[in-house]
Amino acid sequence: MIKRRTGKVRSLVLTTIKQTEEKNMTKRLVVLDFDGTITDAEEEGKPFVASYSNDLCLLVGKTPEDVMPVLRSVEAKIAADPGNNGWLYNKLIVAPATVDPYLRMRAIALRVFDHFKMFMNPSDRDSLLNFLYKRNYPLSGVAFKKDSLQMLRELCAHKDIIVYVVTNSDTAGVCKKITTLSAGNDELMRICDQVIGDAKKYLVDGRPDHVAESITLPGLERPVYLRRSAYFKALEYLRELNGVNWDAVTVIGDIFELDLALPFALGARVGLVINKFTPKYERDFITANSPQASCINLLNEVLPFVLQ
Ligand SMILES: [Mg+2]
Repeated sequence: MIKRRTGKVRSLVLTTIKQTEEKNMTKRLVVLDFDGTITDAEEEGKPFVASYSNDLCLLVGKTPEDVMPVLRSVEAKIAADPGNNGWLYNKLIVAPATVDPYLRMRAIALRVFDHFKMFMNPSDRDSLLNFLYKRNYPLSGVAFKKDSLQMLRELCAHKDIIVYVVTNSDTAGVCKKITTLSAGNDELMRICDQVIGDAKKYLVDGRPDHVAESITLPGLERPVYLRRSAYFKALEYLRELNGVNWDAVTVIGDIFELDLALPFALGARVGLVINKFTPKYERDFITANSPQASCINLLNEVLPFVLQ
């Protein structure tokens, strides 16, 4: 009797494992970046850019007529050379500075200060730039990219897809925007429970060491660092929680270096949402690594890429 029951239990366990495996074979985990991926960072950043530029005029003690031509000239130089105009964090370039208006204004401010020979002490500059960012960021608006609502709806409605947002922004701010976008749609509101904010994707600190330290991209002279421990921890947690392998994970972001380089190296599929500021070397790298990677021109291309 006992023997027969044990056999029954064993067979039940084996069936359950088989079903779970079959289920997990089709299950796909989608990790979305938020700012610049779902939102239109350029549109949202317009009031930030206007106020920040005005502050720069005040700080260097000149009129907008004196400062704005300098600002536009350095902006063009930065846009023409994204590889050498990066976001410096802990003495390493961790992302291009050109892709979103917040990082771009920081790079512009440094060159404007250089031009007018102002605030030459590096530590003073750092404090001043942090102050300018914090003072002006709250002015940013809310603007979603075309088809963002449709994309999120389709992803959430698909039975085999689990959606998360992993972002450097704070969770509350992102949920507030999702609430605006969802306009009472319960399915979309559930994403608010699946947001990992303050992900610190920019933190390069030598871990995890089973990933190469860096990769090189044709057309970019400096390395792209991969060991981003905080970001890895967030991605690994979600992967384990949902019981999938890396090849069942798709990450969608607007900056390859910040959002996609690490998951790509781990074996995930990656979609780069491009805009006019996306560096050419990032586009070229993505195109050369199809089908694991793909450029996303419009958000309605996300679901087909996930299901490919
Ligand atoms: Mg982004």
